Amino acid sequence: MPLFHDTALPAAPRQRRRETPDDASATLKDKALEIHRRLCGVYECPIPYFHSLDPLSELISSLLSHRTRNADSGRAFKALRARWPDWAAVEEADVAEIEETIRGVTWPELKAPRIKAVLSAVRERVGALSLDVLETMSVDEARGWLEAIPGIGPKTSAAVLSFSTLRMPALPVDSHHHRVAQRTGLIGPKVDVGPSHAVLRAQLPADWSAQALYDNHEILMLHGQRVCFHRSPACGRCVLLDICPTGQARGAKPERA
Ligand code: SF4
Repeated sequence: MPLFHDTALPAAPRQRRRETPDDASATLKDKALEIHRRLCGVYECPIPYFHSLDPLSELISSLLSHRTRNADSGRAFKALRARWPDWAAVEEADVAEIEETIRGVTWPELKAPRIKAVLSAVRERVGALSLDVLETMSVDEARGWLEAIPGIGPKTSAAVLSFSTLRMPALPVDSHHHRVAQRTGLIGPKVDVGPSHAVLRAQLPADWSAQALYDNHEILMLHGQRVCFHRSPACGRCVLLDICPTGQARGAKPERA
């Protein structure tokens, strides 16, 4: 179903029919595809992958990045790598030393023991410090496997599958992505980041490749960082303005180029 009515077509006869949940979900799927199409044009899909880390390293990187700027979490990750030769050494390291090494991230006092605990949980479940076992699983199985480890939620599990060398078709949702999805009406105002993963993934084609889902995450995130700002969204220069209920409610008008 197209998102917009073609004005060249005669008007459809008015029908008295209740909208069903399937209609609503089909409309949202159309909208999700239209948003993807427009933002891909702006941010030039395909978006290059920014990491080529093995899945365990990507997991540590993702744990560090929670509520932290990319530059700060990247520095903390490099500092861990520089201080210890491998993840086994980090697992054995003193928690206070890990905390001191990653002090540039948000909540280092929570993340240091969590990193140690997650490494130990992986060793216990796999028998080694490796997540190569995920290669043999479906996306749902791999996400469930990861999320069974305390401290790993939907965003981290999707990030490990999508961003690491596994390159599996999973959709991570960060706070920027979530904000744009909420403002454009893809998800409701009460849907938190965690539950939004399943809702937003279901709006996109089931057979989309890892690259297409990665693109979808990246372009919504980039749009949140560069246009749909947290405090003062730049609706006047947003390519989604005509299909965004928030931009329209703000009375934004398109800025002339
Ligand atoms: S129109 Fe405004 S609120 Fe809507 S997505 Fe664009 S910048 Fe965000």
